[in-house]
Amino acid sequence: MTGHRRAMGPTLSILVAIIGATLCGAPTHAAKKHWGYHETNLWSTGYPDCKGENQSPIDIKGEEYNPKLGEFKFNGYFKTQTMEFHLTNNGHTAVATLDPRPSLSTQAGGLPGVYIPHSLHFHWGGDRRTGSEHFINGKQYPLEMHLVHYHSSYPNISMAQNQPHGLAVLGVLFEVSETKNKVAEVLFSALSAIKNQHDVTTIKSFDVLSMLPADRPYFYRYQGSLTTPPCYESVVWTVFASPNYISASQMDKLRALMHEGEHGATNLINNYRPLQDIGTRKIYKSFKKLPEKMSLKGAADHVTVMWAVAAAMTVIAFAGAKH
Ligand SMILES: [Zn+2]
Repeated sequence: MTGHRRAMGPTLSILVAIIGATLCGAPTHAAKKHWGYHETNLWSTGYPDCKGENQSPIDIKGEEYNPKLGEFKFNGYFKTQTMEFHLTNNGHTAVATLDPRPSLSTQAGGLPGVYIPHSLHFHWGGDRRTGSEHFINGKQYPLEMHLVHYHSSYPNISMAQNQPHGLAVLGVLFEVSETKNKVAEVLFSALSAIKNQHDVTTIKSFDVLSMLPADRPYFYRYQGSLTTPPCYESVVWTVFASPNYISASQMDKLRALMHEGEHGATNLINNYRPLQDIGTRKIYKSFKKLPEKMSLKGAADHVTVMWAVAAAMTVIAFAGAKH
């Protein structure tokens, strides 16, 4: 979820209308005020929905099994492998926008209807301890991707964004691994072409589904909002239980993006909104219990990293002992 920032004080910037904000990378005609991640507590000044009771992101815990959720159906997504994407640095994130094609859709998985994919974008930290917007049981991940859809009963995302159940966002958490995510490399290698705010480039043949984790039947569901102004409470949220992974060098490509701050261009990092109260909302899960194999998959990367560190320390210890 995104917008723009220019050279002015934080309080002033939230009051002055300059550029249309974007939500999850989507243009919005309703909101025209500046906002930034250094002033999330001021968002509600210009965007009253940001202080609503159904805001996102949240810490996912205490969830309840819902057997009605079922598995998602992804229709026509093979076409994204031959589609062009516009990859943009909008000052808040890197967003890859699909050409609108009604033949591409996501349904089932407990979604209230058929949803058209619009774009995907990222939220990340300055180091691997922070970055994701959603937490799972108190754990924050270094990166979160949002695949944004709008309900097919609306002609476009602008019309859908402030309607109940108007948007469906699929959230994917990422771990940093020793291994490069090869299928995602086409996107991450293109980031060097959009280093500065407002830069745009084109990506060809990108497999959107490859950005989702392998264990797609396992996910969490709750009703929430855009995590950027105007914070409309129109989002059917899905967060996959299993993380995907990228390498440290791929993460660094995101952190090398720049945006226009109050004192000139700075690295675009820590573009995540703080956790919001769950209030009286319920969080559901599509499964009774995570399979052990999947739980190990996320942990395996950590184990690999830990072993590498242990091995390096052993080498250093031996080298030290020789002298
Ligand atoms: Zn987002």
